[in-house]
Amino acid sequence: MNQIIDLRSDTVTKPTPAMREAMAKAEVGDDVYGEDPTVNLLEQTAAEMLGKEAGMFVPSGTMGNLIAQITHCGRGQEVIMGAQSHTFYYEVGGASVVGSLIFHTVEEDRLGQISPEQVAHAIRGVNIHFPVTGLLCLENTHNRAGGTVTDIAHTKALCDLAHSNNVKTHLDGARVFNAATYLGCKVNQLVAEFDSVQFCLSKGLGAPVGSLLVGKQDFIQQARQFRKMLGGGMRQAGILAAAGLIALTEMSKRLEEDHQAARRLAEGLNLVPGLAVDMETVQTNMVFVDTTDSGRNGNDWTNLLRENGVLINAVGPNRLRFVTHFDLDRTDIEAALTTVVKLAR
Ligand SMILES: *Cc1c(COP(=O)(O)O)cnc(C)c1O
Repeated sequence: MNQIIDLRSDTVTKPTPAMREAMAKAEVGDDVYGEDPTVNLLEQTAAEMLGKEAGMFVPSGTMGNLIAQITHCGRGQEVIMGAQSHTFYYEVGGASVVGSLIFHTVEEDRLGQISPEQVAHAIRGVNIHFPVTGLLCLENTHNRAGGTVTDIAHTKALCDLAHSNNVKTHLDGARVFNAATYLGCKVNQLVAEFDSVQFCLSKGLGAPVGSLLVGKQDFIQQARQFRKMLGGGMRQAGILAAAGLIALTEMSKRLEEDHQAARRLAEGLNLVPGLAVDMETVQTNMVFVDTTDSGRNGNDWTNLLRENGVLINAVGPNRLRFVTHFDLDRTDIEAALTTVVKLAR
């Protein structure tokens, strides 16, 4: 058996040699006192790249999204988000548990988008019976829709609508650099309308740990207190931030390679009898495959592929997810395809 080909997620990458070296040499201090120079540099660099006033390093995307929600909103307020969004689906209801916020979900379309009409309908009017709408939370790229991208014009329409109703806006931009790469724009253009943005260094960008939350100075200052409350105040975190800086400034430039690999994989998988790929959703580094006509369900495929050295995730009864990343090269993609073809019946 050859080496395992791991297509489960873009979080499975190992730090690059350059990251390891930077981590070993990182200048550090106690970041709870604001004295870690490497963390400070990472936060400044992130804020600059995203066009925001300030940034804060957090251990995970989940914590970044949670802090954003509870900083923007007070107890009993509503957060509008997609019914398939990561914040609703995969974050253990954190903002509801910790912040006593209410999730107001709206159904995304096939490409992970919600419409201005849906947002307008979801925003509460003034009425003694209603909770107050505090925040609109969007996701770009949209994970459960297949890594799909919302463009600048659509983003602006949704944010303008929220702001004109006194509602704040947050972007769950775990993979926002993939979205900007797909659109061929700078990431600051894509996030310009948002009051806050969370993005992950540990997804396609290859850092071992960490995310950033960026926004206005006073927002980040308040967010720091919530980070401490949640146990996210780290000490010599510059060791992690050193890898994060390379992820942010270097690895963010190579994502088109992952997108090309995903397209190649999608085209190949779509030709396998019984498997179907909605090619319109293959925009970034993910491929979702419908197994309905293959005679096997998602778990059957996942187990069978694992026995044959290919790791993937089932994300629904008949739905597989393949994710490309920088630890896989062209040969790995072709080998994974060959394995699927061999196993199809
Ligand atoms: C992974 C992910 C997160 C959370 O990031 P973690 O670092 O795993 O907590 C948030 N949003 C989206 C869209 C994600 O894919």
